[in-house]
Amino acid sequence: MSAHPEFVIVGQGLAGTALAWQLLRRGRKVLVVDRGSGGCSRLAAGLITPITGKRVAKSWRWDELRPAAETFYREIETRTGATFFHPREAIRLFATANERARYSGPDGDVGARGDWFNAAFGGFVMPEAARLDVPRYLEASREYFRAIGAFCTADLDPKQIEPTTATVRVTQLGVEAQTLAFCRGFAPDGDPWFGAIPFRAAKGEFLTVWVPGLAEQRVTHRGVWLAPLGDEVFRVGATYSWHQLDGVPTAAGRTELEGRLRELLRLPFEVIEHRAAVRPIIGGSVPVLGRHPDSPRVAFFNGLGSKGSLLSPFFANQLAAHLCDGGKIDPEVDVRTFLNRVSGLHNPE
Ligand SMILES: Cc1cc2nc3c(=O)[nH]c(=O)nc-3n(C[C@H](O)[C@H](O)[C@H](O)COP(=O)(O)OP(=O)(O)OC[C@H]3O[C@@H](n4cnc5c(N)ncnc54)[C@H](O)[C@@H]3O)c2cc1C
Repeated sequence: MSAHPEFVIVGQGLAGTALAWQLLRRGRKVLVVDRGSGGCSRLAAGLITPITGKRVAKSWRWDELRPAAETFYREIETRTGATFFHPREAIRLFATANERARYSGPDGDVGARGDWFNAAFGGFVMPEAARLDVPRYLEASREYFRAIGAFCTADLDPKQIEPTTATVRVTQLGVEAQTLAFCRGFAPDGDPWFGAIPFRAAKGEFLTVWVPGLAEQRVTHRGVWLAPLGDEVFRVGATYSWHQLDGVPTAAGRTELEGRLRELLRLPFEVIEHRAAVRPIIGGSVPVLGRHPDSPRVAFFNGLGSKGSLLSPFFANQLAAHLCDGGKIDPEVDVRTFLNRVSGLHNPE
């Protein structure tokens, strides 16, 4: 482990991993610290989808985020020798005539088999969709970081972090760095600098199901998403709930998912697994990043919500450029905007 990292990153989920890579690409020395209990990234389906939700709307800043994600993941695949980024066409089936009316793009026959799916209202194909194998990406990255002495397992107590004018001291690890970045995902215990920013976190539950006879290779969306894992096994997700924010699956979550899956599928299925995690939502679909205005030795990268795979490469790059060269943070994602809302004291330029 490097005793003199320039940057300490707390958390090795999608946020911390992308930030570490974007700093390493700039030739910086980093130390990534994770307690190893597994955040929500380890359970993410890794879907990268251009058009989502009941509003059938294009994903926020899709045209710049999607190419940035592909370029980034391809580069990390080359550096680690692992394969985890898979561009794959996905399909969306309309659940109602209303939903169909809301969509203005090309639609028609998407080749969804009528004996497999309830495709009465038609749908559309999303050729630009992709899937990130999140566990493989995180593991390959961790192995790489470990091999260069840039990773350690520890449960860092934020109260034992001491920023000064020029450095930040992490006594628990015996290191002093130029900047420490909190990439902790949903962390209700907070930290002394960014802890006042309220989460609007949403618990998400998903199922793993076996559907004998279903050979669809594309991710299919209709009320739920159904993502193939191979051998007639599929992942189905996900619920949104703002109560009981923990990783415990609920009977209500399972009932909801099974109900929605029955509306999509014409085939019987068997539930193999049921899991839950909490999405770190702060500003809706907008991430939150930047240095603390009064303690600039500490920084924040969070709020990836339900789109960490798509958002993290682009915004980790923006944050790394800011931390290394004073690059600009977009005001709508600037952590000062969010701190300002809480305290009314800090005004982003
Ligand atoms: C059911 C479900 C399905 C999802 N599906 C998708 C999807 O298809 N596509 C997509 O893009 N996104 C999806 N998401 C969202 C995605 O999971 C998140 O956007 C993303 O994982 C957030 O990453 P993060 O790094 O901010 O947080 P996390 O993954 O939670 O990472 C935070 C890390 O910080 C570590 N940590 C925290 N505190 C400390 C400490 N004090 N010391 C040391 N380590 C610490 C934790 O151990 C953890 O590893 C889904 C989420 C859910 C719940």
